[in-house]
Amino acid sequence: MKKQNVNIFLAYFILITIFQLSFCFRCLQTQYSLNNRLNIKDDLVPIDLIDNPEGITEQILIIFVDGMRYDKMIEAETPNIDQLMTNGTAFSNYHSVLSSFSKVNYAAFASGSSTNFTTIFSNEYEENLTLPTLYSEAYRSGFTTGIVSDGRSWIRFLQNFTAVVKVDEDENLVPNKDVYVKDAALTTIENNFSQIQFIDFSSVDKVGHLYGAASTEYLKTIELIDSYVGEILAAYKNISQLENTTIVLFSDHGHENIGGHGSDDFNQTHASLIIANQGIKEHGKIFERRVTMNSVTPTLLAMLGLPVVQTMNGVILHDCINSTTKTNAMYSIQIAEIINQQLNVSIDKLRLLSKRTKLVFRAAVDEITDNITLAKLEYAATQYQ
Ligand SMILES: [Zn+2]
Repeated sequence: MKKQNVNIFLAYFILITIFQLSFCFRCLQTQYSLNNRLNIKDDLVPIDLIDNPEGITEQILIIFVDGMRYDKMIEAETPNIDQLMTNGTAFSNYHSVLSSFSKVNYAAFASGSSTNFTTIFSNEYEENLTLPTLYSEAYRSGFTTGIVSDGRSWIRFLQNFTAVVKVDEDENLVPNKDVYVKDAALTTIENNFSQIQFIDFSSVDKVGHLYGAASTEYLKTIELIDSYVGEILAAYKNISQLENTTIVLFSDHGHENIGGHGSDDFNQTHASLIIANQGIKEHGKIFERRVTMNSVTPTLLAMLGLPVVQTMNGVILHDCINSTTKTNAMYSIQIAEIINQQLNVSIDKLRLLSKRTKLVFRAAVDEITDNITLAKLEYAATQYQ
């Protein structure tokens, strides 16, 4: 009897130790990759597009639902989100960049860059984002840009705006601030329309932290936000702006079944993304390839016909958008040049690489440079056919 107790104790001890060790290992791993920061943004120069692209959209509506896990969005009863899926492409494998905290991913989405560039690694960051963003680029090119938010970091990160509506009721008095965000959004759409509009909902994340993603409360909150999505889409339809607008619905991360996020666990990084209506190639498609938070902004810039910026490293989702092969080719060449430049500048700064390894990397950069030159020649040649 006594021996059995000892064995149970031992098994328990071993289990706990293995759990703790693997947890520490994961934390170390994450910390290592996060601390391996390369501040290269000032060493990069702008890279032009080889040709003038044709935009395939002039208007974008972005609906953000903080902390909405993809599989829970699918599980919830969401007729309006389902309608968006029918009219667009859903991304079943869309993920946060690490760490899966909100501000880290707001920054990655806004700037189209990974954490190496944003250097925002936690929720402690309280400054403005100092990188070019979807909004800065659209604003510079004369698009009107608006946001309706309860005043969290999106206002500091997206910059620049032609219209900001800040909903700041006292959080303690208002159980669901999102109803105010929705009402403000409806008024804004009717009276102060922006070509690029961002609407920021936060309650799904709050409920996720309180009750967990496995809870009925979490599903019910997604369903409530779905009804707001329905009202917003109806407002666009009322002013005949629904079909000609690209609609993006997305979240920054998922949630653990018991609530919480921040690590690289699948449920915590499993975010939602749907891109619908104007400019989307296949309606009703589910895209299964892994896509990360920083890819939406380069994709939207390409849809607007604007150049991608040298600090961006998200991949354009060419196979989802309705642009021509010619346009895809010019953006592919620009992105290849941008990422090759980033790689080139990074090599000297990677302290852990030996001289020999650096030479191998350098040779790879040279090879990519040759391939880009070939691609440019190929592009120029096809123009004459
Ligand atoms: Zn969040």
